Amino acid sequence: MKNYQIAVLAGDGIGPEVMREAIKVLRAVEKKFSMKFNLEEAPVGWAGIDAAGKALPDNTLALCKRSESILFGSVGLPDRDPTIPKEERPERAALLRLRKEFGLFANLRPVRLPKELAHACPLRPERQGEGLDILVVRELTGGMYFGQPKKTEQVSPGVQRAIDTMVYTTPEIERIAHVAFKAARLRRKKVTSIDKANVLENGVLWRDVVTTVGKQYADVALEHMFVDNAAMQLMLKPTQFDVMLCENMFGDILSDEAAALAGSLGMLPSASLGATTGEQTFGFYEPAGGTAPDIAGKNLANPIAQILSTSLMLRYSFSLNEAAAAIDTAVSKVIAAGLRTGDIYSPTENGAKKTGTREMGDAIAAAV
Ligand code: NAD
Repeated sequence: MKNYQIAVLAGDGIGPEVMREAIKVLRAVEKKFSMKFNLEEAPVGWAGIDAAGKALPDNTLALCKRSESILFGSVGLPDRDPTIPKEERPERAALLRLRKEFGLFANLRPVRLPKELAHACPLRPERQGEGLDILVVRELTGGMYFGQPKKTEQVSPGVQRAIDTMVYTTPEIERIAHVAFKAARLRRKKVTSIDKANVLENGVLWRDVVTTVGKQYADVALEHMFVDNAAMQLMLKPTQFDVMLCENMFGDILSDEAAALAGSLGMLPSASLGATTGEQTFGFYEPAGGTAPDIAGKNLANPIAQILSTSLMLRYSFSLNEAAAAIDTAVSKVIAAGLRTGDIYSPTENGAKKTGTREMGDAIAAAV
């Protein structure tokens, strides 16, 4: 039996609470499918600083390096020691460091709004169809955020000029396009590639390269859309999208816009993928939200984002599609049965039962 080696870094705030529930669900999957996950836990964030003096302790990094994927909670506590320099604070010293260390170039943000949670969505019910299900695939290491030159210069007394440079090469666009087409094959087989080809050189290259890569995926429909129109279409007719493929900055903006449709951060998982070796892809899986200090330690956090992060891990790192689907279905069942943590609860919803973090995790594990 294959034993999957997974580094489990719960982090701070609600991290440990929601991670506990995700582990419960993974144990239920092990039983159902007779598989084995070797889950090794290590401190990160303020928990790392407390345990070993660093947000990403050496032992934690070593564990990540000998693992096949990382299941991450979240890090950062805004009220802790403001004298610690920015580069040593958890958000940079742990998160950015891990992203860089493992070459995580593809960010996947699925946004699912089950029809039972229509009340949590800011759009009118008739715009939500039978529920929303969109996957934003964002390039994470190129484009305007990293291109050189990047500087602010003095051009004359009282006048400064800021320069950011948008750069993409063919291989960078090809590898993210492959991620999007492969992801579409596991879904409804449609990719909408987002660009600004009417204004940007980068947009023209992006469109050309994505079109060429798309020819290798004859079973996946490809359409191109300008980013301004995409921002509008997300509000007007979000049901038209399956996979949205975006460069770094457009993806940053559109993935947050799409996320707002799900109603709560507590429902949103994410995956950041690195290199693929053979059948396996190294991945980093985490909820889209942060440490939620306002509700930490009170059994109030929604564990679904963390639980769905494990399903992304099974699907995208280990190709365990059936096990991943079992988790997704279990979450859907529990939502359909009316269980709601505070963030997705509405007193006007018929049959809704307000529940805690632990009870939600128990119910999902039982449904698996
Ligand atoms: P946050 O995402 O922690 O919280 C924003 C709001 O969403 C809060 O009201 C919170 O209660 C709610 N929320 C978030 N997750 C929830 C869940 N699972 N269930 C129910 N409600 C949930 O953002 P913030 O308050 O801006 O940041 C708090 C800390 O988290 C900061 O230190 C920030 O830097 C850090 N952070 C870390 C990550 C990460 O580790 N990837 C991401 C974002 C923020």
